[in-house]
Amino acid sequence: MARKYNFCAGPAALPETVLEQARDELLDWQDAGLSIMEMSHRSPEIVGIYERAEHDLRDLLAVPDNYKVLFLQGGASTQFGAVPLNLTRGDASADYVNTGQWSKKAIAEGKRYLNVNVAASAEDSNFSTIPPRDSWQLSNGAAYLHYTPNETIGGVEFFWTPEADAPLVVDMSSTILSRPINVADYGVIYAGAQKNIGPAGLTLVIVRDDLLGQAHPLCPAMLNWQVAAEAESMYNTPPTFALYLAGLVFQWLKAQGGLAAMETLNRRKASKLYGYIDDSAFYANPVETASRSLMNVPFTLANSELDKAFLAESEAAGLLNLKGHRSVGGMRASIYNAVPEAAVDALIDFMRDFEARNAG
Ligand SMILES: *Cc1c(COP(=O)(O)O)cnc(C)c1O
Repeated sequence: MARKYNFCAGPAALPETVLEQARDELLDWQDAGLSIMEMSHRSPEIVGIYERAEHDLRDLLAVPDNYKVLFLQGGASTQFGAVPLNLTRGDASADYVNTGQWSKKAIAEGKRYLNVNVAASAEDSNFSTIPPRDSWQLSNGAAYLHYTPNETIGGVEFFWTPEADAPLVVDMSSTILSRPINVADYGVIYAGAQKNIGPAGLTLVIVRDDLLGQAHPLCPAMLNWQVAAEAESMYNTPPTFALYLAGLVFQWLKAQGGLAAMETLNRRKASKLYGYIDDSAFYANPVETASRSLMNVPFTLANSELDKAFLAESEAAGLLNLKGHRSVGGMRASIYNAVPEAAVDALIDFMRDFEARNAG
């Protein structure tokens, strides 16, 4: 068996040792005589797995005590609606910043529940920039300010945290755990799991205590963070196997040296790839240098007629899922935590060889 290098934007690569451990424990978890998937979510085994996962995640992100960690379902897309439903706080408006396709989806869903003020938009630059903070038109009395710290499709990342009076609500689906953050800067952090946390089916919400208990009366119980917090993420049958795998990923991250070590590695991987793209006249990345994502690297070929050959040949070379998102075309290499540096090196070698054979 030869595992290939997976550059998928999501569901994304998982650490090999995590998959091996899950395989070894699949039929009989730690002599319990059954699989994780077959256990009651009320059993001491599963409750223990949840507690350990939360503990390790709190350690990794240094989550302050006045924040709840919730393990939910429905993906980040469900949170696009859950955010306004939980945070209307008697107000009718919220500020949103539009930096790409995921911001747009959050804005569209937010508009169903409250008045959305788009405080800034990078649409004019075709989402290749982040509008500077001093250009944002924030509204008075906004319930929150929503933005997307890493746009997975456009490959645009914030390396700064905006100041605002309203609580910051952030969709960190494709950047969480890639480097240290200061959780206290945010009111709510949410993320679908399938990029940097674990398998699809699990959603993480980290919410400051004072933002709980203000949901709209029509907020479904399944979307209500307060309900989830009181039930310790087990209001209904939770995705136990996905959480177990996420817990193994958290243990793996700690063994790698935590998020500071991941940041060093992720910066090295990204700078190798951007450096090669910038040095080549054959490949290009459109994003302003200061806002280039560490996790998602979109790039185009000088001649888009070669796209098909690039994809077919890269796949044959064991480099999977390099096709760009249908909305932007070209290529995209997602180089999340679990994509090893050797994968980036192999990709660059392939790109150099493809360029040599096709340029000019
Ligand atoms: C993948 C992604 C989403 C969608 O996540 P789902 O879990 O599929 O709903 C939303 N926002 C960002 C930034 C993403 O990367």
